[in-house]
Amino acid sequence: MSELSIKGLHVNVEQKEILKGLTLSVAQGQVHAIMGPNGTGKSTLAYTLMGHPRYTVTEGEVTFKGRNLLDLSTDERSRLGLFLAFQYPVSIPGVTVANFLRTAVNARRKAQNPGDRGIPIPEFRKLLREKMDMLKMDSAFAGRYLNEGFSGGEKKRAEVLQMAILQPEIAILDETDSGLDIDALRIVSEGVNLLREQNVGVLLITHYQRMLNYIKPDVVHVMMGGTIVESGGADLALHLEEHGYDWIREKYENGIISG
Ligand code: ADP
Ligand code: MG
Repeated sequence: MSELSIKGLHVNVEQKEILKGLTLSVAQGQVHAIMGPNGTGKSTLAYTLMGHPRYTVTEGEVTFKGRNLLDLSTDERSRLGLFLAFQYPVSIPGVTVANFLRTAVNARRKAQNPGDRGIPIPEFRKLLREKMDMLKMDSAFAGRYLNEGFSGGEKKRAEVLQMAILQPEIAILDETDSGLDIDALRIVSEGVNLLREQNVGVLLITHYQRMLNYIKPDVVHVMMGGTIVESGGADLALHLEEHGYDWIREKYENGIISG
């Protein structure tokens, strides 16, 4: 069982403290949702976990599968089984979705076994077809240039496909629901649910409750001012949908919960 465990994490961005002692554990097969107002540090958490150089950890620890994650490069984190779906994926003109995915698969294979000659093309095609069928994606999608002219929904689908092919143990999705119409939202959610069935642990960062209509989280956390101020079950998200964040903000500001 691989677990991502974050303890008392403090993170600075350009000398400014954004995360202020955040503690959280995600086990494989669990879905944890992190909700919270804009500017509270949700993306900062996602980037820090993947090792983005702009985010400096000043205090606290993060372990993954018993190893100190903070000692590892982004590449090593990914090979260890951590995956981050970006809030704003970049496009790569000239590189097809299929080629991109095959390169990613081969990089991982080579890292595990330096003598690896790469996945045979027929085997890769089979893998790709299987995953695209699973996600109900049109096969023409694989021949398009990555993210080039993709709609918001297509970008997110490409991320979910990448995740299905790389089979991480813990996936972090940062606002994968933003800019999605209801159909795309459903498809992405179904993809996430399929991954969960395959025992992937998911850290689902979202500003809105609506994605949680399709993905039932095991735990919902509310983040405010760089720390988690409230945790609960799926019903906490519904409560937030109805009452907003003000009631938590008031509790927080009145010192009933300490950050
Ligand atoms: P959220 O994802 O919850 O909306 P962010 O983590 O994006 O919040 O941002 C938290 C705070 O950190 C904000 O005040 C934001 O302006 C600041 N911040 C985040 N990333 C950067 C950056 N790369 N450079 C400067 N400030 C940043
Ligand atoms: Mg964000």
